[in-house]
Amino acid sequence: MTADIKTPCPICTNTISNSILASRQNIPTLQNVALRSHNDAVNFPTGTLTMMRCSKCSFVWNADFQQDKISYDDGYNNDVTYSGYYVAHLEKMADRIINSVPKDKPIHYVEVGCGEADFLRLVVERANGRCKTAIGFDPSFTGEENLPEGSLVHKTFFGPEQVELVPDQTNIICSRHTIEHVPDVHSFVSALAAPMTTEARKLFIETPDANWILKNTAFQDFFYEHCSIYTPESMETILNEYGLESNTYAAYDGQYMWTEAKLSSKQSSPEIHIEQNLAAEYIEKSTSMLDEWKRFIHERSQYGPVAVWGAASKGVTFTLLLSEMLKNDAGITCAIDLNEAKQDCFMPISGTQIVSPKAAQNMGVATVIIMNPNYADEIESMTADMGWAPKIAILND
Ligand SMILES: [Zn+2]
Repeated sequence: MTADIKTPCPICTNTISNSILASRQNIPTLQNVALRSHNDAVNFPTGTLTMMRCSKCSFVWNADFQQDKISYDDGYNNDVTYSGYYVAHLEKMADRIINSVPKDKPIHYVEVGCGEADFLRLVVERANGRCKTAIGFDPSFTGEENLPEGSLVHKTFFGPEQVELVPDQTNIICSRHTIEHVPDVHSFVSALAAPMTTEARKLFIETPDANWILKNTAFQDFFYEHCSIYTPESMETILNEYGLESNTYAAYDGQYMWTEAKLSSKQSSPEIHIEQNLAAEYIEKSTSMLDEWKRFIHERSQYGPVAVWGAASKGVTFTLLLSEMLKNDAGITCAIDLNEAKQDCFMPISGTQIVSPKAAQNMGVATVIIMNPNYADEIESMTADMGWAPKIAILND
């Protein structure tokens, strides 16, 4: 199937005046993989990306996404190298959850899509004994031996059949960085909303904000795994359909959004206001921005190798797009990543090698393009400590 402009919005079914934000063929189905051999990397499974934006509710989705191309079973590792900036973000969100429960009440926590339960553990730790139970759901979970007392992880997706596994005393349901991976938005949100039967129970959702991507022309934030990218407006629309009222706040310097929802006391649907021109502006700016980066990399190549810093989703997507544009021209030589498990491996499809900062310095890398502006300060102080002074450019600064 190839999506066209008439493909209905998965949230509100609107077919009128939707936009195609990006179309890409042969992109890797997973971004957070590092392949041991160059051959495996360039032959990694691929899919098609047709990112669309609904003109009515502003939801953004990949209309050519195929769920069967992705496996989130054992071995799927969506690791983020834990920088100081990221840890501070996690702690802030954990505290927000803990502080939402009155201080004299215990916390009974449920997390949908808990990964290796790192955040679940953080909530339990920072609650200082107040978190009495913590239940996680994630098919890729493997870390039983690291679970805190009173906690348990069900190795399964969360859907209508799992709702009965939510304990009666639960007062917090949290889902971080999961909803953007789910194409069947109604089935997932209805399952999340099903246990929200009392006003004392709160639902927290953290996910990328499509408005931030469009406003910042962050073309590298569109990739295969993220098939459903919400905005505050589309999140409110779908939660309301399942009887929840919500507020959404910017998090992680605006790249993410943090939604807090509870059983609705309102009778009427919320009024949604969409920034209509965002899609057209993004489409125009993304083309010119890609051209600018192409020129920049081409120019900088004469001074020595060019590297990206960050071999996760943004780096994999940026490197692939630019390598295709630069073709046989001197392009991105390598990707720098602090994650030792990725070093000396290769990124999917582009086949670009992943190296340590020290190896990049030894290779004479003369230009570093930082993939996430949130880590720029940390990276700049690290290169200074190494006595290394490449030219540094920052994506979406
Ligand atoms: Zn819609």
